[in-house]
Amino acid sequence: MKAVRLDKLLANLGYGSRREIQMLARAGAIRLDGDAIYDAGGRIPLDPDLSGRMTVGGEPLDPLPGISLMLHKPLGVTCSHKEVGPLVYGLLPERWRRRDPPLSTVGRLDKETSGLLLLTDDGALLHRIISPKANVAKRYQATLDRPLRGDEAAIFASGTLMLEGEDRPLLPVALAIHDETHVEVTLTEGRYHQVRRMFAAVGNHVAILHRDRVGGLDLPADLGAGGYRVMGAEAVAAVF
Ligand code: URA
Repeated sequence: MKAVRLDKLLANLGYGSRREIQMLARAGAIRLDGDAIYDAGGRIPLDPDLSGRMTVGGEPLDPLPGISLMLHKPLGVTCSHKEVGPLVYGLLPERWRRRDPPLSTVGRLDKETSGLLLLTDDGALLHRIISPKANVAKRYQATLDRPLRGDEAAIFASGTLMLEGEDRPLLPVALAIHDETHVEVTLTEGRYHQVRRMFAAVGNHVAILHRDRVGGLDLPADLGAGGYRVMGAEAVAAVF
């Protein structure tokens, strides 16, 4: 089993500088199986169950690096530092924002779109899923301003729809119709504002947009807006 210096591990989890962690250890605040570790300079085996065995200041240790999260993105928060407004990272515990490797969003949802957003600190996983070859299906529920014309499903499925300003047609997109202003859109690409621009291309306007599924993973019904959950192996396997 790989072993790491305790001060480095905790520093990478955002608990403070190595010096601060050494002070926590001296104060008896770091415990493994109930016993205080007074020297944070020692190495400890990277037991996958370490979070269940170690406490810091009486609280269970944060999940070790190598995590993925599902988050229910509310409206009005942004995925990118380049945009204006509160960031999705602000929904996570403050310490988690100092993790190294950092948590990054897997793709993006725009500011006015809610729903299932994944984050991971695993670079290989991230590149695998956002690569154009990944073909991970993303499903959206959309409310439209105007009733459907009737030809949208055929146009979206054709693989010939060109979005304004682009030089390559979209891959086929599946449209399921709930009623004339409520639809479900399933796509595998993830071009900038794709769903909104697709409906703009057919003379409509998306009023409400919510993502409820990525790959084989549904947004859990009991995960409210703004909430997040660490993904277990099964949830990760359903997506990546
Ligand atoms: N399509 C959009 O228009 N916005 C999103 O956030 C995702 C897909």
